[in-house]
Amino acid sequence: MEIWKEFEDMLFPEKGICFFCGEYSDEISHYICHQCKSRIEYLNKDIPFEFSYVDRIAYSLFYSNFIREHIFLYKYHGRGYLYKPFGEILINTFLERFSPEDIDIITNVPIHRRKKAMRGFDQSELLAGYISQRMNIYNSRKNLLRVKETKSQNKLNKEQRRTNIEGAFQVRKKEEFGGKRILILDDIITTGITFEESAKVLKDCGAEKVYGLALTSGMKF
Ligand SMILES: [Zn+2]
Repeated sequence: MEIWKEFEDMLFPEKGICFFCGEYSDEISHYICHQCKSRIEYLNKDIPFEFSYVDRIAYSLFYSNFIREHIFLYKYHGRGYLYKPFGEILINTFLERFSPEDIDIITNVPIHRRKKAMRGFDQSELLAGYISQRMNIYNSRKNLLRVKETKSQNKLNKEQRRTNIEGAFQVRKKEEFGGKRILILDDIITTGITFEESAKVLKDCGAEKVYGLALTSGMKF
């Protein structure tokens, strides 16, 4: 039995490990332990605003210290593997707020290629890839691009944010998005301006619907 267990651990090294705290237990599912799960508030809600270009934006979690810290660790401190538990959380929201048959393409709000080179990965691209694979929906990669190196949105006021993000995105092959219903992934919604700007570019390509999905929202309402 022991040998078999070791063999199984070799095949599935992540099985039974909480990706948030590193706890090992047989009861862990979706890469999160009971204790870390109890520190997360699942909302699975739509942002209660009308946007000009995005048809609807949904998000998964309350913006708690625990979540803020772990998104920070995910993006800036080498915890890239958190895309898996975050991906599972997003799938849960996706199935509650959307229907797989209503989405043709999953893509992400991209970071600039220089930032990606420095970080080693694009956090939203990993999330989009994970969900698209699990939901069996086409994943568009490297077609919606960030062509402008923008400043971090959270240090700017509303008007500066708009100017900062204006013209930040471009599409290489427009025909890929024509007539399609697209879901864009991002880690966090701060104001919705980034989603709006990406959706605007996709609608210019003829996209029929553009939806947003994020892990959490820092928006006040
Ligand atoms: Zn844990």
